[in-house]
Amino acid sequence: MARVLIDRRTIHKRVRELGIAISRDYAGEELLVVAILKGAAIFVADLVRQIAVPLSVEFMEVCSYDGTESTSRVAIIKDLQAPLAGKNILLVEDIVDTGATLSSLITHLRARNPKTLRVCALLTKPDRRLIHVDLDYLGFSVPNEFVVGYGLDYRGLYRNLPDLRILNSQM
Ligand code: 5GP
Repeated sequence: MARVLIDRRTIHKRVRELGIAISRDYAGEELLVVAILKGAAIFVADLVRQIAVPLSVEFMEVCSYDGTESTSRVAIIKDLQAPLAGKNILLVEDIVDTGATLSSLITHLRARNPKTLRVCALLTKPDRRLIHVDLDYLGFSVPNEFVVGYGLDYRGLYRNLPDLRILNSQM
């Protein structure tokens, strides 16, 4: 089996900490959590259950990745229907690699005049960054390896693995 990079207990502990920080920062406010399908689906399901402020959850789907190589082309497959004006948006992403996906989503959402827009990413690969993006909440920094599990896939598979693992040829 592929090497475990971050085990389920460590993930759970970090997600709790993120939920506590988000709850504190948005105390007295309402939140619209926007998760990016499909990679962030499992992360957001755990994260929202650790957030104490009133919130709703919406999903967007983008296509920016083919196999193990990032491309800078980001297509929105499923957009948000609800108006964003005056809302506190928390964009939830699985992993930030070059930054192309997130930066294009931020531009897209900012144009719809939310009251605030912050980003929560489970993982970042800082060595791979081509476009700077501010991550307001971050789970873990990871090395430049291809990560699967806890919602992250390789060609549609491995999202169900409870731990984050590094993909290798044995899988
Ligand atoms: P970026 O646009 O930042 O280059 O790429 C972000 C997207 O690429 C992520 O949302 C994810 O879908 C995919 N991605 C980047 N690195 C990895 C990785 O290590 N594992 C998996 N499964 N997806 C990745």
